[in-house]
Amino acid sequence: MNVPSRPSLGISAVLTRPAFLPVLSGTIGLLLIGGGFTPGLPARGVFFFGGLCCVVGGGVGYLVLEEWRRRQVDLESFRWALVHELRKQDRSNFSFSQLVERAGVSRRPADEIAAELYQRVVGDCVRDGVVTASEAANLDQLAFLLELSPIVRSQIDARVKERRYAEHFRWVLADGALTDDEAAQLASLRASLGLTPDAVLGATGLTGGDAYRALFRQVIRKGHITEADLNELGKLRESSGLTAAAAQSLVREDALAFYRERFFAAKQDGHISVQEENELAWLQSFLGLSDNDTFWFREQIERIKCLERVRGGDLPTHSTHKLLEGGEICHWDAPCRYCWSTATYEKSAEGEVVITSQRVIFTSGVKRFEFKPARIVDIRCYSDGVSINTSGRHGAGLYFVADAELFAAILEAIARNHKYLAAERFSTTRSRQIPEQVKQEVWARDGGRCVRCGAQEYLEYDHVIPFSRGGANTVANVQILCRRCNLLKSDRI
Ligand SMILES: [Zn+2]
Repeated sequence: MNVPSRPSLGISAVLTRPAFLPVLSGTIGLLLIGGGFTPGLPARGVFFFGGLCCVVGGGVGYLVLEEWRRRQVDLESFRWALVHELRKQDRSNFSFSQLVERAGVSRRPADEIAAELYQRVVGDCVRDGVVTASEAANLDQLAFLLELSPIVRSQIDARVKERRYAEHFRWVLADGALTDDEAAQLASLRASLGLTPDAVLGATGLTGGDAYRALFRQVIRKGHITEADLNELGKLRESSGLTAAAAQSLVREDALAFYRERFFAAKQDGHISVQEENELAWLQSFLGLSDNDTFWFREQIERIKCLERVRGGDLPTHSTHKLLEGGEICHWDAPCRYCWSTATYEKSAEGEVVITSQRVIFTSGVKRFEFKPARIVDIRCYSDGVSINTSGRHGAGLYFVADAELFAAILEAIARNHKYLAAERFSTTRSRQIPEQVKQEVWARDGGRCVRCGAQEYLEYDHVIPFSRGGANTVANVQILCRRCNLLKSDRI
């Protein structure tokens, strides 16, 4: 048998020899025993005993290592013999078991060598991405000759093919993009290797998941998702062997954040367009969110649409016991706490407020007044109250009511009915007109949460310098606040 010659002896070769340590230990043992003969040395027995242990230990270690080395040499010879036999044209007399017996090696390491050999040949076959019929027949014969069990064989086949696919997948994704051509290449490679989606997932694993998430983030950073983006995500998902559900859960966090952002952006201008509504509905289905998950959002959308209708002049009618003039219609009649301030004091009164098509009336035990809608100069809406500024002697102050948004919307509508242009300058109107680009940048900068308390619900785009004082619709002047913080921030409260 053909054994490769050993390397020549250099000092490094000696040091790296496995037998070096036992020999060293034996030498130290002998030195110790020698030291034990020195007269006058205390505890000479310890030297003798320690030295003896070292010599015996070193000897045993040397024998074990030599045995191990001999076996390695035998296995190496066996490998050579095996390869030699398999290279022969005529394999009719070949028997793996007999060869193992002849070489005197144990069966398990021999089987490992056979598996390794087989794996290398499979690797050569799939390198071009296709296993031809003749290659397949060859592999069948080889597996038979090497006496590989079907289980071991299928494991090796799967491993090699997955590795081959993973290699190509990483190579294709190295530039971070997946073109149509590349996706088609991967698809045909999957088909020719006969990989199941599970196998593909095993092959691409983290690489595929990471790539999918990265692409998704890249898509949503643009602020909207197009048909082409969806197409690319779909291709990448397929190429990674990810199921729809797995892909969904991978990007769930990002997608939810995106849903929230789209929602608050859509809601901010007090107007939900058909496109915005469609986009949100599509996002919901893409994210696999249940109607339950989005209940709050959809309720808000319905509410926004309702408020929008009110602002547009579709006013609710309300019964009232107030004495109305002919043709006067009541739109609001509810309890209200009215707060007003003069230069020297602040006061509040519990009463009720009525809005009709002609007047705003406040009545309470201590204070009562009314004013014409045309007197309204500005309206600001907070979570539980509405601040009104009027040009007359009455009415300026804060109105705390149960539904501040609806109250403000009705006020805005009747004010618009009475002096159309002025209503366009109200804070409630103007604050709705933040450009889409500004909203996106502000949202990204503030991380989609209230900059004061970190809340993630009831968010609003707030102007750092209010409109009424000339604040602009710029990224620098807009921030995200929750309703509560927005309310606290107001200098009037
Ligand atoms: Zn807050």
